[in-house]
Amino acid sequence: MNDWIRVFDAANSLEAHALKGALESRGIDVRLKGEALSGALGELPMDVAQITLLVSAGNWQQAREFVQHYQHKEDGSWFCRACGEENDVSFEICWQCGSGPEGPE
Ligand SMILES: [Zn+2]
Repeated sequence: MNDWIRVFDAANSLEAHALKGALESRGIDVRLKGEALSGALGELPMDVAQITLLVSAGNWQQAREFVQHYQHKEDGSWFCRACGEENDVSFEICWQCGSGPEGPE
């Protein structure tokens, strides 16, 4: 049995996907709940309802620590939209994959 537990409520699809990518890059599987409204469009609308991130029980503690770290970021760091990697504010493109803050070309 594999329980999925809420770890974070994202304000929008973009944030949800950024966090999902970042967690998955750390080996944590993530499910998104509440995305049905926008799923068929293939876009990431900014104004959809809140999206809940779920992780399996075994990953919850690690995911929670990461999310808390993410939430407390106020130094301008950003998460790559293409690969989910965290980038320091001084980087204009993702050090991991070379994408800009606005995503891949
Ligand atoms: Zn990247």
